[in-house]
Amino acid sequence: MMTQEVDFLPLVDVLHDIFGESRHHNDVRGQITFDCPVCSHDIKGLDDGDGKGNLEINYKMFVYKCWVCSETHHTHGHLNKLVFKYGSPIQIRDFKLYTPDEFVVRPNGEFKKIRLPKEFIEFRSASVGRKLTHQYKQAYNYLKSRNITDEMIQRYNIGYCDSGQYENRIIIPSYDEYDEVNYFVARSYLKYTKRKYMNPQADKNVLIWNEHLIDWDQPVYVVEGAFDSIFLKNSIPMLGKFITDNLFEKIYDNAKKVVIVLDGDAWSDSVKLFHKMNVGNLFGKVWVVKLEGDQDIADLKGEIGNYKEIQID
Ligand SMILES: [Zn+2]
Repeated sequence: MMTQEVDFLPLVDVLHDIFGESRHHNDVRGQITFDCPVCSHDIKGLDDGDGKGNLEINYKMFVYKCWVCSETHHTHGHLNKLVFKYGSPIQIRDFKLYTPDEFVVRPNGEFKKIRLPKEFIEFRSASVGRKLTHQYKQAYNYLKSRNITDEMIQRYNIGYCDSGQYENRIIIPSYDEYDEVNYFVARSYLKYTKRKYMNPQADKNVLIWNEHLIDWDQPVYVVEGAFDSIFLKNSIPMLGKFITDNLFEKIYDNAKKVVIVLDGDAWSDSVKLFHKMNVGNLFGKVWVVKLEGDQDIADLKGEIGNYKEIQID
């Protein structure tokens, strides 16, 4: 419950700043309408609004919806999604500043917000001088030895640390649906190491790996680890052997087709997962790929089409 009246005016100012002139505004209910940027720009190709005012925002409930394109273009949801897409960095900063506490998205609950290590170096923007260092070469060669291509490095913004707590580790970041870091895994690239993985503490029950890259209209692949997900577009790792309730619900609510692809030595886990998922809305939409023996997803080399998807009785 709100214990004191929240001043929404600064927030409304930010919304005007991003979406231009409002068409209607009911400040008691917190409803305000603008020209929809998706209808105007993405659909009609207009630089300015289309004058229709179909985008309705309720800033007291922190949701938005376009009355014309919400179904066809997913123009609805948490207000963050809209502002993060159309706001400038400064507008987004102000928006966050004026977001009432109760609407701040904290996917990690009581856990600290996950940030990438401050020593994190992106491969994709490493300087020429950096590329000459021994550690860069070690890290990069490690990725090559695991058949990770430059395109994958780029797409997942893979990097490494050459000092600090995560020294000598490859870092694979995960971003949530609002493009905010929600987790990372840190894998040693040294041949001999006491700990292969040193990942941050986070509530794995709520986090969904790289959700910003998931296209729910396409088949969604369920895989084991973060490295697996690099090799298969539109895949979500369970970050362990078992699926969390949160990931299961997310998939259940959104996926049109699910394909389970676990390592070759985890066939019984695949079968269990198949039966767990092949229920209700998902019934008949769940498939499994059976890898042989010691095969893992890297062996597919992105060619999932060569492997047979099956359903189990
Ligand atoms: Zn629209």
